[in-house]
Amino acid sequence: MDRSQYSNEKTRADEYDTLTGLPGMNRFFGRAESQRQALIEQGEDPALIYFDLNGMKEFNIRDSMEAVGAGLACDRARLACDQGRDSLTSGYYYFSERLLEEARQKQYIIDHLDQAIEEHWIQVYYQPLIRSANGRVCDEEALARWIDPEKGFLSPADFIPILENTGLIYKLDLYITEQILAKMKLLREKGLFAVPTSINISRSDFAACDVVEEIRKRVDAAGIAHEMITIEITESILGNDLDYMKQQVDRFHALGFQVWMDDYGSGYSSPDILMTIPFDTIKLDMQFIRQYEKNKASGIIISGLIKMAMGLGIETVVEGVETEEQAEFLKEVGCTKLQGYLYCKPIPLGEILRRYDDSPQIGFEDPAELAYFSAIGKVNLYDLSIAVDDEEQQFRDYFDTMPMAIVEVGGEEIALTRCNKSYRSFVGNHYPVSAAKGRAKITDLLTGSAASLVRIVIKCAKDGRQVLTDMKTATSSSPSAMWMRRCGSRRR
Ligand code: C2E
Ligand code: CA
Ligand code: CA
Repeated sequence: MDRSQYSNEKTRADEYDTLTGLPGMNRFFGRAESQRQALIEQGEDPALIYFDLNGMKEFNIRDSMEAVGAGLACDRARLACDQGRDSLTSGYYYFSERLLEEARQKQYIIDHLDQAIEEHWIQVYYQPLIRSANGRVCDEEALARWIDPEKGFLSPADFIPILENTGLIYKLDLYITEQILAKMKLLREKGLFAVPTSINISRSDFAACDVVEEIRKRVDAAGIAHEMITIEITESILGNDLDYMKQQVDRFHALGFQVWMDDYGSGYSSPDILMTIPFDTIKLDMQFIRQYEKNKASGIIISGLIKMAMGLGIETVVEGVETEEQAEFLKEVGCTKLQGYLYCKPIPLGEILRRYDDSPQIGFEDPAELAYFSAIGKVNLYDLSIAVDDEEQQFRDYFDTMPMAIVEVGGEEIALTRCNKSYRSFVGNHYPVSAAKGRAKITDLLTGSAASLVRIVIKCAKDGRQVLTDMKTATSSSPSAMWMRRCGSRRR
């Protein structure tokens, strides 16, 4: 090739895209500049419109397969380099078949989303939340599953991040909303009970559409009360734009929807978030409770976060509860709602309906008693912890505090609703076992060793006044101070 031939070829390669044959950047700049001048001379005001087409990289890779050599290699190298897109340091990356498979999977999800929605490959699974004060189902969370005819069962981790990154997740979130509403209508038609259900929404929903309005429209069209729908927003959604998110949360609130903060503590969790945005409930990130048995700091952090939320009038949920020990602890520190495999995994609607018919179910709470259980669930039974100097001792003593209990007095009966570990051992030492747990007839207790204590409890429950009293038990020589107050009344 002589020099002029080489130079012509090079100019053509620079000016036209090798894959599509369309004019390339150099040619574009040349033409754009001459058009700009021409328009200015004609007295016009030129403007530039920029298109960024999603999915071009996958298109290039797929279609380069027909091509050979350098072009394909370059596309693959670019794919490999994408792994370092968010890194500020220089580095090198290798192409592997895995990357190609991921790119194909991503394209599959994007290409099939509409079909997956239309043909109901995407299904809603529901996971119940249990109110700690009464052990009943008080809410449900809707979680998406993609059951693909070709690829089988896909969990959210396989498709949610792809749909979020491409801005398509709003289609899924609005579809999930419609499915929840259809479920509520169905339960209503069958005369069955429905609890408020939460929808997870993503940051890009707000960019793609007016998601507040889109949800409102659908809920109203279904004739469902707004308080039956809860919006879950993850901490990571909030980003740097707290003011914008506050406006959106305010809009949801003004319409009567509950708004919860999800995964609190998973990122940087500045308390600033809670000062700026008035969430109704915060869900503590699963990582805290997961470490409960192994890491002694976990319980203290959970207890502190719950106390902080309580002070702000915000309810708390801990999700990922898997053991009885974790549940017991969370009830004692005043976590209002619990969610996790200990109670139930996320299940499809069909299974919920089957449970109505036969298998054991947890049972739903009576909405009329919500305020009562919400009040008694919030009391932290470790609030009176005593600080000591020795660090090791401090960890041990943190939850080794004053005996505290909540008792329910009603009609003929008195019942122990919640208590902490210190109370259990205190009562075990001083009173007969029958008085220390469960439910008992008041008349039976008025003749036993706890008679005077029971009388004061009944009086406090009746007139609602605080009582500070000295008690002397049969087994101790010195009296103990006892403080009582009414924390709620239950109406049936
Ligand atoms: P998330 O909102 O934090 O949902 C809780 C996740 O924890 C769910 O995972 C649930 O199945 C799982 N989980 C519940 N209890 C336990 C437990 O006791 N132990 C363990 N190990 N896990 C438990 P899933 O369903 O895989 O969802 C993952 C994430 O995907 C969700 O996290 C949520 O961020 C997102 N997601 C799910 N469905 C949707 C949706 O419809 N729209 C949007 N935007 N995001 C969704
Ligand atoms: Ca969630
Ligand atoms: Ca969560």
